[in-house]
Amino acid sequence: SKSQQKSEAKSRTHRLAMPSPSLRLAVVGAGAAGLVAARELRREGHSPVVFERAASVGGTWLYDAAPATSDPLAAGAAHSSLYASLRTNLPREVMGFLDFPFASSAAEAGGGGDTRRFPGHDEVLRYLEEFARRFDLYGLVRFGTEVVRVRRDGGGGGGRWAVTSRKIGEKGRREEEEEVYDAIVVCNGHYTEPRVAHIPGVEAWPGKQMHSHNYRVPEPFHDQVVIIIGASASAVDISRDLAGVAKEVHIADRSAPACTCKRQPGYDNMWLHSMIDHAQEDGCVVFQDGSSIKADVIMHCTGYLYDFPFLEDDSAITVDDNCVDPLYKHVFPPEVAPHLSFIGLPWKVIPFPLFELQSKWVAGVLSGRVKLPSREEMMEDVKAFHSKMEARGWPKRYAHNFSDCQFEYDDWLAEQCGHPPIEQWRKLMYAANSENKAARPESYRDEWDDDHLVAEAAEDFKKYL
Ligand code: FAD
Repeated sequence: SKSQQKSEAKSRTHRLAMPSPSLRLAVVGAGAAGLVAARELRREGHSPVVFERAASVGGTWLYDAAPATSDPLAAGAAHSSLYASLRTNLPREVMGFLDFPFASSAAEAGGGGDTRRFPGHDEVLRYLEEFARRFDLYGLVRFGTEVVRVRRDGGGGGGRWAVTSRKIGEKGRREEEEEVYDAIVVCNGHYTEPRVAHIPGVEAWPGKQMHSHNYRVPEPFHDQVVIIIGASASAVDISRDLAGVAKEVHIADRSAPACTCKRQPGYDNMWLHSMIDHAQEDGCVVFQDGSSIKADVIMHCTGYLYDFPFLEDDSAITVDDNCVDPLYKHVFPPEVAPHLSFIGLPWKVIPFPLFELQSKWVAGVLSGRVKLPSREEMMEDVKAFHSKMEARGWPKRYAHNFSDCQFEYDDWLAEQCGHPPIEQWRKLMYAANSENKAARPESYRDEWDDDHLVAEAAEDFKKYL
């Protein structure tokens, strides 16, 4: 009929006007990265389905008070690595998404909440839940659903993927389901698979070893002698947490010179040492300078490993020495771009804004609005990146360490998407916080000198609040 012809012509016109058809996308994870990815993908006109094995959103920020694990050195069932006392190590103004401020006024207005500038972890969870509510993301998430396998779908061609997922919970019933998606956006986080230090002789050492992933509260360490390996944010926090109840805390830092044995200022039961040389059957742990301590516990605060157990061999990436490779700009494996992407791999960054810009880029590329270079050009870029790392003498495991390039990277992403660069106040505040942390390691969360930047941020936030 005439009306049918008319409506067909209309729908053709509509299709032609779109940059590309809406894609059906699988997002793995509903932490900060998965949530903002879902928002950006939907804004771009796609249809994301978010798989989340936990019962709620938040990922890392979903505190798990009693991690069930038979091996305190392993990931076990614990899905978050947060300890009870954790407060953010970034000021909230810096930490939040670019267009959804993590402002204390929101906590005040809500009556309750944690209005501190460096709030406790539950405030971050509230913020992410609010983000999910505000942008209506809950309906996109399949909770209690784990992605167990992702492989290229041979039948469909054109870069489609078969995703196998299973419902968890329900009295051990585990039904698997396979569906086909146009693209996969991996947002599974990288702070749950513990990296453990190698200690010669530790097999015969009679004490207890655990990883910071499974640390929650200091009380079980009452009157014990604890050796902490590491110098990261978690090592610093946990050593101070423990010093209040443990008999002695000894920090083994591989970057400390071999002769180091220093009592820590302000503590009469905490020392800094060089790295552990070996452990002995008699309970002693020997440091590189030959000194030794009879210890009850060795706590590995030695970081985490990238892990994508659900990706089959045809995913076109490998993880070698904690470097995910090859990836164009740490997001797209050239061979399968843009049908597989990774959000959130860089570390030593302000995570949420970086996730947001990566997500905007991925969403724009998937719709065809933003162009990628050819596969060959992307591979050339990856090679050039590795050559630069080698020239600097950096090991592979530093590939995603962005300590000296995060803003350059953020601004590059922003430019690709036609988004303004990261605000100047945010860059300055990040630098001011790093300096303050070095100058006041004990109290940087409660004393600072950058109130002028806080005021500038508050002014800037007015347009969003
Ligand atoms: P995650 O939060 O880990 O989320 C990944 C999600 O994917 C999880 O919900 C997980 O259940 C899900 N998932 C994984 N695999 C599957 C699967 N196969 N199927 C289905 N679902 C799956 N950042 C800051 O900005 N400020 C801080 O102060 C700060 N402090 C930190 C302190 C600690 C101890 C740690 C560990 C991290 C801290 N971070 C901090 C970094 C923090 O990890 C990031 O802020 C951010 O939360 C990471 O988000 P994500 O979405 O990438 O990963």
